[in-house]
Amino acid sequence: MSTPLTPGPAKKSLGQHFLFDPSILARVATAGGSVEGKTVIEVGPGPGGLTRALLDSGAARLLAVELDDRFAEGLSLWPEARARNGEEARLHIHHGDALAANLPALVQDIGGSLPAMIVANLPYNVGTPMLVEWLKTGQHEGAAWRGTMVLMFQKEVALRICAAPDEDHYGRLAVLSQAVTRPRIALTLPPGAFRPPPKVDSAVVVLDPLPEAECFSDLASLEKVTAAAFGQRRKMLRAALKSLPGAVEALATAKIDPTRRAETLTQAEFRALTTAWRASA
Ligand code: SAM
Repeated sequence: MSTPLTPGPAKKSLGQHFLFDPSILARVATAGGSVEGKTVIEVGPGPGGLTRALLDSGAARLLAVELDDRFAEGLSLWPEARARNGEEARLHIHHGDALAANLPALVQDIGGSLPAMIVANLPYNVGTPMLVEWLKTGQHEGAAWRGTMVLMFQKEVALRICAAPDEDHYGRLAVLSQAVTRPRIALTLPPGAFRPPPKVDSAVVVLDPLPEAECFSDLASLEKVTAAAFGQRRKMLRAALKSLPGAVEALATAKIDPTRRAETLTQAEFRALTTAWRASA
């Protein structure tokens, strides 16, 4: 069995903070439920601690997407990355940028099944854009491609994903995340759990996909409305939404008091406002 690689110096530009404690890694691997027999995508396997835990927890196919040459090459030498004794490889390394990769197509290429779970200790510098991209592109060839996502972020970002109206961290990221998933914080970790330690606490967020009938399908429009509404979050909506033509008028259609602030609007109200704005455009 392969153990995690010796990482060498961490690259700050790639957000590298590694986990090596097997008990923590086992908890992260299964925080979103059993991975036994499932197809899993891991973004940024690094030296492979979480990769090892996912394989040991029974993942049937693991697509690991890594930008750093050292780790992509090292992990591709693991025995699980080769077909053996008539059994296909369980571990498949894609050497490249996860933001530029077509993840569902890669899963299909390796014979995995969709929807796939995504389990990752994400690089802090690009974790939020990655999540937003995955939230926006939930369908591949007309069907859901991502299942439950188990993602490690800075704790501050995790709080922003899970926040409710009127809470300090409530904003665009909460509204977008909760339009298509039900997120919850599964565990938090102090800086000392990582090598090298980051400056802040981290947290694992589990995002279970909402049933299709409960999802809001037009995330691109919701993104525009939330960007305008929270762009000036202390202002009343009638002022904040001026930057988006037609949005102030849509408040009346959606029956939302224009003197309210964005941080008080529920998920349902943001959906109603977005639908009204899109219908008027
Ligand atoms: N999973 C490992 C662990 O938990 O120890 C490493 C996590 S480290 C926080 C983030 C990893 O993502 C690093 O290995 C880094 O090289 C990789 N990475 C950074 N940007 C990436 C990108 N755009 N696409 C793919 N991998 C990336």
